[in-house]
Amino acid sequence: MKIGFIGLGNMGGGMAANLAKAGHDVYAFDLSAEALARAAEAGCNPVNAAAAAIKNMEAVITMLPAGSHVRKVYELEVVTNAEPATLVIDCSTIDVESAKDVAAMADVNGLVPIDAPVSGGIAAANGGTLTFMVGGSEAGFERANPILSHMGKAVIHAGENGAGQAAKICNNMLLGASMIATCEAFKMAEKLGLDLQNFYDISSKASGQNWSMTSYCPVPGVGPVSPADNGYEGGFAAALMLKDLRLAMESAESSGANIPMGLQAAELYAKFAEDQGQGGIDFSGIIKMLDNK
Ligand code: NAD
Repeated sequence: MKIGFIGLGNMGGGMAANLAKAGHDVYAFDLSAEALARAAEAGCNPVNAAAAAIKNMEAVITMLPAGSHVRKVYELEVVTNAEPATLVIDCSTIDVESAKDVAAMADVNGLVPIDAPVSGGIAAANGGTLTFMVGGSEAGFERANPILSHMGKAVIHAGENGAGQAAKICNNMLLGASMIATCEAFKMAEKLGLDLQNFYDISSKASGQNWSMTSYCPVPGVGPVSPADNGYEGGFAAALMLKDLRLAMESAESSGANIPMGLQAAELYAKFAEDQGQGGIDFSGIIKMLDNK
């Protein structure tokens, strides 16, 4: 299948490579020459303008930093260059309103829009093991599913356009809050004189068990190998967690949801990522902020 791919950064680079590996004809575009060169090495066809990754494609995928980038690319490039009935899939994490707006824009122009943000970091993007949360029509989902399956281990239809982003934002708010709670529990266990591996053995089989503990433990040397074992390098940057928590705050505001824990998590990640300049390290590194009262 001829697929256009726009945005070949940390995530998009690996995703486009997996589509090429699966035998698709991938026309890849990014503003960065380095990202384009990496895509060419990975078997994609690099193109030097967004339009060349949109015209005459059966599907066009975008993986861009934020809502403003997606709006711009849709307004200036996608709706003007895509053939009618082209499947247009945005995998970026953006606000629900922008997702709905670009979908409406695509709809009016006869395209088939899908929002399909992902869970899983750079390793999952490279390994083809992302989870996709999909918003869009049933027919759009049926078309998108086999394409997304080449890049992920799970593709789940969440509802109409915008529902994928809504699910992503709710999930990551839960992740941010549960990571902080997990860090607190381990720090207090330490203060109370518990052996941390022993506490992990207990809590991972008791009611405190959660993904932040058993799949991504923030304590070095405890649980499975995680960024904590690599000096909190790699993984999911604290700045991106803060971005997602701010999207959650916007959604709570517009929907009237009451999210006291989410707000607290956003405040703590803002302190860690911005005030303390730790935005580039993995989000589990927030445990270091709990060292001193
Ligand atoms: P990134 O900054 O590494 O990549 C974005 C790419 O988009 C860059 O290469 C940039 O040059 C390109 N770009 C920007 N504007 C463009 C334009 N107009 N035309 C073409 N290319 C353009 O970001 P990333 O880490 O790959 O994240 C992408 C999205 O995925 C974000 O929305 C992020 O929140 C989400 N996400 C990231 C992770 C992660 O662990 N990095 C995990 C889940 C979701």
